Amino acid sequence: MVEKLVNGFKNFRKSYFEKRSKVLQQLAEKGQSPQTMVICCADSRVEPSILFGTGPGDLFVVRNVANLVPPFTSKDNVSIGSALEYAVKILRVKDIIVLGHAHCGGVAALCKSINNDKEGEITDNLTDFIKSWVDIAKPALSKVYFDHKDENIEVNSERAVVLYSYNNLLTYPWLNDAVNENSLEIHAWWLDFKSVMLWKKAQGSDAFMPMEF
Ligand SMILES: [Zn+2]
Repeated sequence: MVEKLVNGFKNFRKSYFEKRSKVLQQLAEKGQSPQTMVICCADSRVEPSILFGTGPGDLFVVRNVANLVPPFTSKDNVSIGSALEYAVKILRVKDIIVLGHAHCGGVAALCKSINNDKEGEITDNLTDFIKSWVDIAKPALSKVYFDHKDENIEVNSERAVVLYSYNNLLTYPWLNDAVNENSLEIHAWWLDFKSVMLWKKAQGSDAFMPMEF
């Protein structure tokens, strides 16, 4: 597999670099100035650059399990907090997109954790970090009814986690200021890679609407 990556880099040097060497040289000399930050899952099926047709220098990306943004006051916010701080205060990005996705293993782990807690089951001790990380988003699912056999429970949970992260962005004071000054816009999107559809949070509502193309 690593060999495949090395060959991929060889091709990148040949094809991409030859065509856009100027862009890359400018990025090296002048530094980065991306306009957009994307917060998405570590899932290998979610590839922002491929999805959005962007190249080096275009996106400032943070990936973690289940695309989580803990609240500003959380003890777990150091990693994402430092990235947000750099993006908003130094890079002054114009947009931040929280990008969730279908069949998210991280959100599934959160649902399992909540169900286990409800049923008094002892959760597995196989993982050291996953439960404590995804449990950050427990409040997001308080409105999702786990007892109902809702066929969309997976989708509803994934979108609820996206909204949780989206709302938590506004708990970071300097980010909230930038939004109020209209120098920054934040977005909540959810990707279904099976149907190749992108959904976005509607304005003034928590409903997700499919983007029309
Ligand atoms: Zn995921």
